[in-house]
Amino acid sequence: MIRTTCILLLVFIQFTVIQAQSLPSPKEHFGFNIGDDYQLANYTQTEAYFKKLAASDRVQMVDMGLTEEGRHQWMMIVSSPENLKNLNRYKEIAQKLAHAEDVSDEQAHALATEGKAVVWIDGGLHATEVVGTHQLIETVWQFVSRTDPETMRILNNAIILFVHANPDGQELVSNWYMQEKDVKKRNTNIPRLYEKYIGHDNNRDFFMMNVKETQNISRQQYLEWFPQIIYNHHQPGPPGSVLSGPPYRDPFNYVYDPLLVTTLDAVGAEMQNRLNRENKPGYTSRSGSSYSTWWNGGLRTTGYFHNMVGLLTEIIGNPTPSKIPLIPARLIPNLSTPNPVIPQEWHFRQSIDYSVSLNYAVLNYAINQKEELLYGIYKMGKNSIENGSKNRWILSPKMIDSINNMYRIDQLARSGARMGASQTGDARIGASDTIPAKYFDSVLKDPKLRDARGYIIPSDQVDFATAVKFINALIRSGILVHKATSDFSVSGKKYPAGSYIVKTAQAFRPHVMDMFEPQDHPNDFLYPGGPPIRPYDAAGWTLAYSMGVQFDRLLDDFSGPFERIPYGELQSVKTNIPKPGEGYVLNAQSNNSYIAVNELLKADVEVYRISNNVGSRIEISKGSFFIPSSSKAKEVIEKTAGSNALNIISIEHKPSGVEKIAPARIALWDQYGGSMSSGWVRWLMEQYHFPFQVIYSKEIDAGNLRKKYDVLVFVSGAIPSVTRSEGGFGGGRQPKAEDIPVEYRERLGRISADTSIAQLKKFLDEGGSIVTIGSSTNLAYHLKLPVRNALVEMNANSQERSLPSEKFYIPGSLLTAKIDSTQAAAYGMRSETDVYFDGSPVFKLAPEAVVSGAIKPIAWFATDKPLHSGWAWGQAYLKDGVSAFVASVGKGKLYAFGPEITFRGQSHGTFKLLFNQLYQFK
Ligand SMILES: [Zn+2]
Repeated sequence: MIRTTCILLLVFIQFTVIQAQSLPSPKEHFGFNIGDDYQLANYTQTEAYFKKLAASDRVQMVDMGLTEEGRHQWMMIVSSPENLKNLNRYKEIAQKLAHAEDVSDEQAHALATEGKAVVWIDGGLHATEVVGTHQLIETVWQFVSRTDPETMRILNNAIILFVHANPDGQELVSNWYMQEKDVKKRNTNIPRLYEKYIGHDNNRDFFMMNVKETQNISRQQYLEWFPQIIYNHHQPGPPGSVLSGPPYRDPFNYVYDPLLVTTLDAVGAEMQNRLNRENKPGYTSRSGSSYSTWWNGGLRTTGYFHNMVGLLTEIIGNPTPSKIPLIPARLIPNLSTPNPVIPQEWHFRQSIDYSVSLNYAVLNYAINQKEELLYGIYKMGKNSIENGSKNRWILSPKMIDSINNMYRIDQLARSGARMGASQTGDARIGASDTIPAKYFDSVLKDPKLRDARGYIIPSDQVDFATAVKFINALIRSGILVHKATSDFSVSGKKYPAGSYIVKTAQAFRPHVMDMFEPQDHPNDFLYPGGPPIRPYDAAGWTLAYSMGVQFDRLLDDFSGPFERIPYGELQSVKTNIPKPGEGYVLNAQSNNSYIAVNELLKADVEVYRISNNVGSRIEISKGSFFIPSSSKAKEVIEKTAGSNALNIISIEHKPSGVEKIAPARIALWDQYGGSMSSGWVRWLMEQYHFPFQVIYSKEIDAGNLRKKYDVLVFVSGAIPSVTRSEGGFGGGRQPKAEDIPVEYRERLGRISADTSIAQLKKFLDEGGSIVTIGSSTNLAYHLKLPVRNALVEMNANSQERSLPSEKFYIPGSLLTAKIDSTQAAAYGMRSETDVYFDGSPVFKLAPEAVVSGAIKPIAWFATDKPLHSGWAWGQAYLKDGVSAFVASVGKGKLYAFGPEITFRGQSHGTFKLLFNQLYQFK
C-alpha cells in the first residue's frame, strides 16, 4: 500500500516537473525577470503569458468579462489538478456556506471538512502601483511551477483565485513607463486616468458597481465564488516602512460580526510572523497607517459586509530603484511596528519577494485553518440570519447617547432647576462610570433604535426606475431580494404589485443594513478637545438615501405574496407607452426622463418644459417635459423605453405655460493626468446621453468660449481658491511639454486666477452658463459676487476666520437640505433631499442681492441637525447656510453647488441639479 502511494507520488512529481519545464518562466516570456530594475510588463504581454500558463493542469483560466476599454479581464483559478476536476463541487460548497441557508450546524461542519479554502488574490487595481500586477504574475508562475511541499500542500487544500483587477490600467502605465529609451527617465506620470472614467476611484465603486471592472469582480466575489479571504494589493507603504497591512485602526463598522474582526487579526498576525521568520522587516499595522474598517465600497472593504476577510497591503517599490527614508519616529518598535526597517536603497524585486511571501502567508493561514475558516463564514451568515429574525439593536454611538441622555435627564430632574436649562448638555459620564442597568433596558423600548426586519420599496414611487437601479446594485452584490406578485398590505399600509422587499434575515445582513440605514460614525478625535481624525474615506454613504429611493422600514416581521428573485437576476421595469393624444409628458422627477429628452433632441423632436402647472394634471410636476405628438417622437420614445424605464403619460391638450428647450453645447473641464470627479461626470453624461466635449485650461485661456459653448462644467478641484493662483490637484506633477507625446500637450496647464478667470467672466457676460461643483464654487469669490463663506467665526481681534476643525468638521456624509424646486435649476427635485457633503462650501448671500433677484438660493440647511448619515461635528453651524445658488453675471448665469451632486455616480437624488443646467431655453 505504502509502496503504491510512493510510486504514484513519484509519477506525479515527474509529471509535474516535465510540465513545469514546458511552461515558460517569466524571463523566457517577457525577456526579463519580474522585479528587474527598470522593467515593466504590459497587459498584452501579461495576457499572452497567462494563456501560456493556462496549459498547466493546475490552472483554469476564466474570462470575467470585458473592461471599459474592451479588454478581457482574466481570473486564473489555480489549484491541484484533482481539485480542478471537482471545481463545481467546491464552488457549490463555498456558496452554501456563505449563504448559510437551510444548512444545519452539523452539515456546515461536514461541508467545511469536504470543501477547500477559497482565497482571492488580485493585482493591479491601481495601475500606477505597479508591484500589484507584477507580484500577481510572479505568484501565478510560482504556483504553477513549484513542487516544494508547502506549495503542494496549498494547491491540494486551497482554490486560489488570481484576479487581474485592471487590465486597461496596466497597458497604459507599462507602455508609458517603457516608452523612454533612457531608463533613468522612465516614470509613471500618466497623462490620463488608469481606469477609463474613474482612475483611483475604481476602488470606491464596490457597492455601486457603476463601471465594468467592478461589476466583473463583484460577480465573482458575491455571486460565483464567495472567497473566505480577499487579498487586495496596493502601494505604497507609509514613509519609513516597507508596507502596511492588517489589522487596521479603529473605528470598525458596528454591523460586522465580531468573528470577522478577530479573523482579520489572526491573518494579520500570520502575515507578520512569516515576514519576521524570513528576516523581512518593515511591516506596520493599526495606528501605523491610516486604514480602518469603517467604510464600505472598496474591493477589500465591501467584502467585510459579506462576512469575507478583506486584506489590504500597501507596499513600497518601483522598477526605478528608490530609498526608504529616515523617519526617526518609525524606528522605535511598538505594537503597530514590531520590526522597523532601517533606511536603505530599495529595489523592485524586494517588493515582489515580500508580496509573494505575504501571499504564501495568507494561503498557509487559509489551509492550516481551513475548517475554521469555512465554518466561520457559515457561522457569520447564520448569525446574520438569526439577528434578522429577532428584535435586535446595534450597539452604536447613537444608542449610547440615548442611554446617557436618559440618565442625565433623570439626574437633572433630581437635582432641581438649579442645574440650568440644558438637559442634553455635557454633564459628563466618564469612561469608567457605572449607571443603573435600567437605562439600557429603557432604550430597548425605543423602536427608533431597533434594527429593521426588512424594507419595502414601493413600485408606485415617481422615480421607480432609479429605485430599480438601487435594487440592482443590491442584486449585483449578492443580496437576496423578493418581489411582490400582487398588491398587499403591511401594518395597515397598502403596497402595489411589483414592489420590492429586502429582508434583513440573510447572510449578508451587514450589507443590507449598510445600504438602508444611516452610518453612525463615532466622534473620533486625536485627544479630547483636539482635532478630528480624518476617516479613511467617507463617514456616511447610505445608498438608499443618496439615490433618493423611497422605502419603508419595517420593525416587525412581515409576509405577503413575495416571490424570491434568484440570486444575481437583474431587474428591469417595463414602460407602458400611452397613446399620445396632443402629446406626451415625461416626468421631471424621474432621472430617466432626461435620457429620453436627450434622444428626442438629437432626433430634432420639439421638447418643452412645463413651467406653469396651473391647470395641468396633478401628476405633472413642474418642469416636466412636454413632447408634441409626432411619428418621430413615438419612434424615439419607443426605442428609448426599450432599455430605460420611463415615467410617461399622454396629455390631451398642450399645457399653457411651456418653454421650448434646445440642446446645449456642453464643455466639461478636465486636466492633464485626469480628474476623477471630471471622469465621473463624463461617465454620468454618457449614461444619460448628454452630448459634451472635454475642455482643458489651454483652450479656456485662448478665449472665444462663447462662440463654441453654452455651458461649462467645473467639478471640485478645477477653480483655485482666491488665495491661490492655480487650481487643480491630483493627476501628479505636470511634465514639460517637450517630455510628453504631442497628443497630450494640449492637456497641460491649470486654471489660473489671472488668465482663465477673465475668460470665464467674459463667457458669462456674453450669456454663457457655468456650473460649478464643490471647491470650484470658488469662482463666485473670484467674480466678487455678493456671497460670503457661512462657516466662519470672529477671532479675538474681531477678524473673520474659517471655523477650526475642533468646532466644525464634516467629512463625507449625507445631510438633508431644503430645495426650491419651483426654480428651473431644481425642476423635478423633492423639497427635501439628501446631499453628499464632504467639507463642502456653504454660503451666506447678501440680502439685498437676493431681494433684487441678482442671486437666488437653490438649496440650504433649514435646521441645526441636518445630518442624516455619517459624522457631523458642530453641525448647528450649518443652520440657514446656503448650499447652492444661482447668480446672474452679465447676460449669463453662474450655478454654484457646494455639495458633490454627482458623487461617484451614486448620488442619483441630486443628478438633476446638474442635468437641469444642461439645456438651453429657446
Ligand atoms: Zn491603491
